[in-house]
Amino acid sequence: MSVWDEVVGQQPTVELLQRAVASARGDGSGMTHAWLFTGPPGSGRSVAARAFAAALECEQPEAGCGVCHSCRTVLGGTHADVSTLSTEGVVITAQQARDMLPLAARRPSVGRWRVVIVEDADRLNDSSGNALLKAIEEPTARTVWLLCAPSSDDVLVTIRSRCRSVALRTPPPDAVAELLVRRDGVDPSMAAFAARAAQSHIGMARRLALDEDARIRRRDVVRVLLQLRGVGESVLHAARLLATATAEAEAGTGSRDEHEKADLLRALGADPTARTHPPYVRTQLRDLEKQQKRRATRFVRDMVDRSLIDLLSVYRDVLVLHADPGADLVNGEMRPDLERLARALSPEQLLHRMDAVREARDRIGANVNALLALEAMAVQLRLDA
Ligand SMILES: [Zn+2]
Repeated sequence: MSVWDEVVGQQPTVELLQRAVASARGDGSGMTHAWLFTGPPGSGRSVAARAFAAALECEQPEAGCGVCHSCRTVLGGTHADVSTLSTEGVVITAQQARDMLPLAARRPSVGRWRVVIVEDADRLNDSSGNALLKAIEEPTARTVWLLCAPSSDDVLVTIRSRCRSVALRTPPPDAVAELLVRRDGVDPSMAAFAARAAQSHIGMARRLALDEDARIRRRDVVRVLLQLRGVGESVLHAARLLATATAEAEAGTGSRDEHEKADLLRALGADPTARTHPPYVRTQLRDLEKQQKRRATRFVRDMVDRSLIDLLSVYRDVLVLHADPGADLVNGEMRPDLERLARALSPEQLLHRMDAVREARDRIGANVNALLALEAMAVQLRLDA
């Protein structure tokens, strides 16, 4: 057992971090106070950052035992000296950043290090980035900053130039499947399917493996492609894609929203079962609902993006079939359907459709109305286009 158990398929990175921990306990020469963990979504950036934090705090001589009190509390998110700055919103605000500074400057209270994990460093804007800059540039002697972002290009240059980079790769599907079997008790053949279908996105693979509804929704999104005809049907398909993502988002956040609301009411001393509340409670509730709405919007966008990545994987499979009819496919369980699509669409037509999907991803990423972007895309995906 070790803190690195869930950092899958990242051996060189794990070795690098282990050397840094060893050095932090020795003469300190190989230790750095600001790190930037990059890697594609689902590759486990924040899992790696947290494992590193645990290894730094570990009480055992072989740092990162995974069983001592420090290791367990860091991994469980309750260690007194390890804090997280993250956001459900589109940006980390300057206020959120400033709120973190006094804590980051404090000496560790129980552990060896004060660690601040910034989960969405790509969501720092100029003002929140500036607020953190000095603290990252000249950290207190026992403070370590661990920033996470999809790529270093996503992080303000002033910030990233102060950080040592750690690049995670997309883990191999075998490694993801092995994790699902070991950690979640998933049946090996299901784990292999889920890892492949999720293209090694660890969280998505876990959901596909454990949630049958998620599997059905994914299959439906992809199946429609195989018979999409006419503009009207395409527009309907776009709406359905968005509705599926919204349903997925509600399944993911609905019960959390209710818990948060109940917690807030209890904290305010209000009765959770009452139908009306005094004005000061209503104000707080409205703020919470606003936050929850923002979070839901972001979640829906993430889910739509996953669906579009699924679509890309289908077209890529069909393109592969053109070149090599016996090749391994990401969506191998749909091979007969994909073979039919290969007969219907030439490689040029497939590339054109992949461009349409990429354009939709870019537009949705740039906050264009998701339904409009999806409609524009779906019209170009028709078999009769
Ligand atoms: Zn330990």
